Amino acid sequence: INDQKIALVTGGNRGIGFELGKQLAEKGFRVLLGCRDLEKGKAAAFQLTKMNLDAEAVELDLHNPDTLQKAFRFVEKQFGRLDVLINNAGVFRDGNHRLVELPEGVLEGTMNTNFFAPYHMVRAFLPLMEKKNYGRIINVSSGMGQMREFSDSGNGSYKISKLALNGLTQVLASEVSGNIKINAVCPGWVRTDMGGPNAPRSVEVAAKSILWLAEIDEDGPNGGFFRDGEEISW
Ligand code: NDP
Repeated sequence: INDQKIALVTGGNRGIGFELGKQLAEKGFRVLLGCRDLEKGKAAAFQLTKMNLDAEAVELDLHNPDTLQKAFRFVEKQFGRLDVLINNAGVFRDGNHRLVELPEGVLEGTMNTNFFAPYHMVRAFLPLMEKKNYGRIINVSSGMGQMREFSDSGNGSYKISKLALNGLTQVLASEVSGNIKINAVCPGWVRTDMGGPNAPRSVEVAAKSILWLAEIDEDGPNGGFFRDGEEISW
């Protein structure tokens, strides 16, 4: 019996998502890099397989439900299980606009990627996890979704999307039972295309601060929000 654990990371072609894939593969997971651009995904997976890591790209455009259904059918047929789902893909498109002055569609697009997509991913994959009575779901959120952060102006659509993601995490966690854990995590401010070159954290440190949640035991947290292993406020 092959009991290798399967992990799917959205936005796995670059940034924190790619590093999550790398570190999961180094831990022995079979890693699926969910990518909206399959060519970019294949190039990312090739970087890992070159290192003898077990990874492959799966087409997953979070704005295209067909790709989500296709990815689900692939995982179900190929492995019959999904042990770890990391909702990592995200966008940050506020620029310097106030919420009421955002270009048309930015709030909606941000909500689609950062909030509705994680919901639809869980909706698709949770039944498979429940069938196996095992699943670890991690929603990569942000301290900007914390209520206290709302005292600063700016970044409105991003903040709202991550606040909603945090709420989603709590509601989903309250509705699962058995050995399934759903938590949210803030990676800190990280040097990626999104975080920019001046961010203090490397992707290596950020991914490490997330991945302990992929391996928590049955008595581990459910419905929590963490940074660096410490619980933080909603
Ligand atoms: P990047 O901008 O570097 O990477 C974003 C990833 O998300 C890319 O792989 C991108 O794919 C993917 N993505 C975006 N939209 C979609 C979509 N519609 N369908 C599929 N994939 C999509 O971001 P980071 O690595 O920095 O961020 C990862 C997560 O961490 C995000 O959720 C972010 O909000 C969060 N975070 C990041 C912080 C930071 O400082 N960097 C701070 C706090 C939280 P593509 O290459 O095709 O565009």
